[in-house]
Amino acid sequence: MRNFSNILVAVDFSDSSDNAFQLALSMAQKFSAHLVILHVINEPVDLRGFYVPHISYEKLEEEIAEGAEKMMQSFCRMHIDDFTDYETRIVPGMPFEKILEQADKADAELIVLGTHGRTGLDHVLFGSTAEKVVRKSKLPVLTVRLEEDLK
Ligand code: AMP
Repeated sequence: MRNFSNILVAVDFSDSSDNAFQLALSMAQKFSAHLVILHVINEPVDLRGFYVPHISYEKLEEEIAEGAEKMMQSFCRMHIDDFTDYETRIVPGMPFEKILEQADKADAELIVLGTHGRTGLDHVLFGSTAEKVVRKSKLPVLTVRLEEDLK
């Protein structure tokens, strides 16, 4: 069986990505792999200097980054017990682009995602981030479906 030494899991703090995370974590434990936990701040880049003055946009960005960091810390406290071989990354941008970019930078051998995210839309097979990552990734992608989405 193939061994994975570096796994990237993308979390948007939805139930679906929590569920995908559980699987990524147990795979990392099983393979003794390093786990990269990535969250992408999906920024409305159009705001920059257009609707809001530059200075207040920077303040807003700072507050968003601090909020995301706090969410990530509490996510790790809640979901990780005695596993230590992990790192967290928080980057701004388009989620599917950053997931692919960060997986490449981290030398990941597998990307783990939920089939859906915070936008829900359970009637579609895949959310738009999941669909784009699956379509464009050169790496194997494991998409994990929440059981209640099957009902
Ligand atoms: P979506 O395609 O947006 O419905 O989301 C599907 C999955 O992609 C989620 O369950 C997450 O695993 C991942 N994902 C979506 N948005 C983000 C994000 N902003 N940061 C990290 N992962 C994300």
